Amino acid sequence: MRPPVDAFVALGSNLANPPAQLRRATIALGRLPDTRFVAGSRWYRTAPVGDADQPQYLNAVVHLRTALAPYTLLGALLLIESAQGRIRGPERWGPRTLDLDLVLYGDLVLDDPRLTLPHPRLHERRFVLEPLAELAPDLEIPGRGRVLRVLMDLNPATTG
Ligand code: ADP
Ligand code: MG
Repeated sequence: MRPPVDAFVALGSNLANPPAQLRRATIALGRLPDTRFVAGSRWYRTAPVGDADQPQYLNAVVHLRTALAPYTLLGALLLIESAQGRIRGPERWGPRTLDLDLVLYGDLVLDDPRLTLPHPRLHERRFVLEPLAELAPDLEIPGRGRVLRVLMDLNPATTG
């Protein structure tokens, strides 16, 4: 088996009872094979990014320690999304029952549209950096600096 790696998953929901979506997704993440659930952040109520005419989001980050390979873990996240009724519409940032993003997988850097690591928008999303800073403020985001630093350097005028 591969040596375990610290992985961070961002959760987001703004449809069909977001607290129930996050609760169910957290349970599913805790049941992943070859994976230990280390910690979950508080849940944050956030304003939608992009199309403002949609309900508020509930966001959180979960810390896993996993021996699953990165694409295996991503596949498992997409399965949990579909199990919770996510239908991918034409709209990129439209409302969703559940969005699960793999934001960090150890210090792995990948430049693949199927799996980009670190997540390409992690460093500009307050709704991910804030819960992540709660769990791992000193963690290094490859190419960007430490989580808390990146959060502090966000420009309040341009981010949600
Ligand atoms: P977003 O999360 O940016 O709103 P989607 O959830 O609709 O957009 O995009 C999902 C697609 O993005 C998946 O098909 C997946 O292969 C790809 N993807 C690339 N990098 C990642 C990542 N780090 N985490 C999750 N999905 C990713
Ligand atoms: Mg996603």
